[in-house]
Amino acid sequence: MGQNGNNGYKLIPSGKGKNLLMMDDGYTFKQCHDTPLYYCSKQMAGCKGRVKLDKAGNIVDYKYAHTHAPPQYMVSSDGTYIKLKG
Ligand SMILES: [Zn+2]
Repeated sequence: MGQNGNNGYKLIPSGKGKNLLMMDDGYTFKQCHDTPLYYCSKQMAGCKGRVKLDKAGNIVDYKYAHTHAPPQYMVSSDGTYIKLKG
């Protein structure tokens, strides 16, 4: 992950508008305004997990500090991610 340009993440529609969520390792992150930082979707619940991207979209920093289990998503036939739990 990171330095080798090996991006394991996906960008998925959040279902709540135009913002995309990043999904990596089963966790979802949302972009902090126009910065390269993505914070865990559970930040408001106190989770400190975050990911930082470089300009090319490579993960350059990953703070794996989740305080919770990954959310569960189902992928529908048209590629839409539907959150089941979490
Ligand atoms: Zn988290």
